Amino acid sequence: MKFDPASEIQDLLMFGEFGDVNPSITDSSTYTFLNPATMQEIFSHEIEGCFLYSRHWNPINKYLCRALAAMESTEAAQVTASGMSAISSAILQLCNTGDEVIASWTIYGGTYAFLKNFLPKFGIQTHFIDLANSDAIKRVLNRKTKVIYTESISNPLLEVADVPRLSRFANEHGLTLVIDNTFSPMILSPARLGAHVVAHSMTKFINGTSDCVAGCICSSQQFVEQLTDINAGATMLLGPVLDSLRAASILKNLHSLHIRMQQHSANALLLARRLHELGIKVHYPGLPSHRNHELMKQLINPGLGFGGMVAIDVGDESKANALMTKMQEEKVGYLAVSLGYFKTLFSAPSSSTSSEIPEDLQKLMGLSRGMIRLSVGIDNDMERSIARMEKCLKAIGLF
Ligand code: PLP
Repeated sequence: MKFDPASEIQDLLMFGEFGDVNPSITDSSTYTFLNPATMQEIFSHEIEGCFLYSRHWNPINKYLCRALAAMESTEAAQVTASGMSAISSAILQLCNTGDEVIASWTIYGGTYAFLKNFLPKFGIQTHFIDLANSDAIKRVLNRKTKVIYTESISNPLLEVADVPRLSRFANEHGLTLVIDNTFSPMILSPARLGAHVVAHSMTKFINGTSDCVAGCICSSQQFVEQLTDINAGATMLLGPVLDSLRAASILKNLHSLHIRMQQHSANALLLARRLHELGIKVHYPGLPSHRNHELMKQLINPGLGFGGMVAIDVGDESKANALMTKMQEEKVGYLAVSLGYFKTLFSAPSSSTSSEIPEDLQKLMGLSRGMIRLSVGIDNDMERSIARMEKCLKAIGLF
């Protein structure tokens, strides 16, 4: 069924304190009560329109959560101070000591490190596998498994998760399917495809201006209540609260996300096609040569393209480094980690954002030291940017 996340957000009317078109920014850590009984009551359950303390909830964060839940088609959402705190809070809420996670082996390096190096301290083990291989999932599944974790489009190899298939498997075995949708906000709606929890690093496309770090968790009302529970909630007790000034600016940026995603996608497709024609090894799910192209066509919401991320493999690390240096000199964009910025950003994941993943596993999953990940910007004249990039490729002798 056709789903348009942008229209869902557009239909939310949020009136500020004085009828302002943007909801007022809450500039307070704590809130007054007219009587002690209400203060006592709020410790046992939420009271509509009543706030206790900003780490628990605050009005502007609630507004942003409403918009994110509308975008992801979930009952509720919680915002956090980073993508990592969204992911770690969700997993820690779902898993107890002795539980296990099955995770895709192609995920963001920070998430890999959290699952691999941090969670074992609490007796939580993770199996990293190729989630496209159903037999591999069955091999590691056992009574302790609680969570299947993957990214909708993986960082950095841009593999597309078959969310409906993973969801069916999770439901059959009583598992929670957690999807990081950072690379494809609005383009993919994992909750509509069967995911139980959707996380984002809002640092990236959702905010789009690379001026803050933020995250969110979109899920059922029940799960968000668990996360924010005063006595046992991960976001309440670990405390990764999103600052209200940031929440306000992200909420405003969210309203232009569909336009930005369209432009990121159009530019990325143009670039991917051209590089492919030049004989460069390109990973982009919008190209028919990508192994998940047909799957992605089935899963995406219409009109937003295949996303702004492109990965190329130029053979070895020294060529990758030379090319990135040249691309920055020629103003193709910035040599920088992160993504979703209005300008093009590029980095070599093997030695940066995926360096937490051991080299043998990098090899196994097809991540070479010559790979460059590009977050394609919303350049108005992409032909001009591509011409600059071609000049750089030529200078390094890549075609
Ligand atoms: N998920 C993905 C796919 C990412 O690429 C990143 C960061 O690069 C994160 C999560 C972590 O987000 P943050 O840096 O906002 O904590």
